[in-house]
Amino acid sequence: MGVFTATDNPDDLGHEQVVFCHDKASGLRAIIAIYSTALGPALGGTRFYPYASEQEALQDVLNLSRGMAYKNALAGLDYGGGKAVIWGDPTRDKSEALLRAYGRFVQSLGGRYITACDVGTYVEDMDIVAKETRFVTGRSVERGGAGDSSVLTAWGTFQGMRAAAAHVWGKPSLAGKRVGVAGVGKVGKHLVGHLLSDGAQVVVTDINPRALEWVRTNHPQVDIVPNIDTLIRSEIDVYAPCALGGALDDATVAVLRARVVCGAANNQLAHPDVEKLLSDRGILYAPDYVVNSGGVIQVADEIDGFNFERAKARASKIYDTTAEILRLAESEGISPGAAADRLAERRMAECGRLRTILLPGTP
Ligand code: NAD
Repeated sequence: MGVFTATDNPDDLGHEQVVFCHDKASGLRAIIAIYSTALGPALGGTRFYPYASEQEALQDVLNLSRGMAYKNALAGLDYGGGKAVIWGDPTRDKSEALLRAYGRFVQSLGGRYITACDVGTYVEDMDIVAKETRFVTGRSVERGGAGDSSVLTAWGTFQGMRAAAAHVWGKPSLAGKRVGVAGVGKVGKHLVGHLLSDGAQVVVTDINPRALEWVRTNHPQVDIVPNIDTLIRSEIDVYAPCALGGALDDATVAVLRARVVCGAANNQLAHPDVEKLLSDRGILYAPDYVVNSGGVIQVADEIDGFNFERAKARASKIYDTTAEILRLAESEGISPGAAADRLAERRMAECGRLRTILLPGTP
C-alpha cells in the first residue's frame, strides 16, 4: 500500500494526508496518517515502536490508519480514520520534551487528527501530549479522561461473542460453553469475568506468570493450560485470542477445535486467506476490528466529556453490528470480514457524501 495508491479494492479511497514530523532536539520522528475524514476528524492512537526502518514505520501507519477508518465507521462513530507512529524505543527514547513536540505537531493539524494511546503509549503519555494540544483523548481519569480503554474493549468483545453464539447455537449466551482465552492481560482479565458471569466454563493461558496468578486468585474455577498450542487443541467451543496479532495462521486453523473465533486481539489473521481456511473448517470468525471497537468507543466518548454509561450503551451495540455482519455474510455467501468491510465502506460513502453539502457553522 502506498500513500496515493489504494489497495486492489475499488471501494478503497486511498489516504487523504500523511505528515512526517521531525524535532531534532527531542529526537522525535513521527508520521501521522489520515486515511479518511469522511465521517469526521480522524481518530486513532499513537504507536511508539522501534521500527527497523522508515519504510516499515510508514507501512505500519498506512495500514493502521486505514483500519481505524473501518473500525470507527462500523462502531457508529462520527470519526474518520487516522493513526500515528513514533519511530523509536519507548523504554529509551520517550521523554516529556518528545511527547510535547509530538503534541504540537498534532495541534498543527487543527483537529483533522485526534490522537490516543496505542502500543507503547499510555494514559499518562496522553496527559503530557494534552499540554500542547486539545486534539487528544484517552487521558487519565484524574485529568478528566476515560482511563483504561480495556474495560469497554472487553465488554464489546463479550457482546460480539454473544452474537456469534446466537448465530451458531441459537442462543445469545455462552452458558455451558467452554471458552479458551489466550492472553489474560488488561482485556483478557475483564473478558474472563464477563464469561463466568454468563455461565461459561473458561480455560486460559498466558506467558506472564503474574497474569496467571491473578486468575488463580480471583477465579479459582478457571482452568489454566501451559500455552496457546495446548489451548487450541483442547475441547473448546470458542477461541478468544486476546494476546498479540497473527493468532490465526494455516497451522493454527488446521488444529483448532473451536466452532467460533471471537477475541480482542488486533489483526488476528496472519494473511487474508486464513478466513477461507476457517470457513472451510466450519469455524465462524467474528471480525476482530468489529468486536474490539469498545476501546475506541470509550475514548471517543471522552472527546465531549466522558460518561461511562453512555459509552457502555454504545459498546453494547457491538452485539447488533456483529449479528448483522454474520447474517450478511451468510446471505451473500461471503466471509464475515468481507461483509464487515462492505458495511463500513457503505457508511463512509453514504454519510461522507452528505458532508459535501455545506451547512453553515459545521466543520
Ligand atoms: P496486554 O498487554 O495487557 O495483554 C496481553 C496479554 O497477552 C499479556 O498478559 C501477555 O503476557 C499475553 N501474551 C503475550 N504473548 C502471549 C503468548 N504467546 N501466549 C500467551 N499469552 C501471551 O494487552 P491488552 O490491552 O489486554 O490487549 C490485548 C489485545 O487486544 C492486543 O492485541 C491489543 O492490540 C488488542 N486491543 C486492545 C484494546 C485495549 O483497549 N486495551 C483495544 C483494542 C484491541
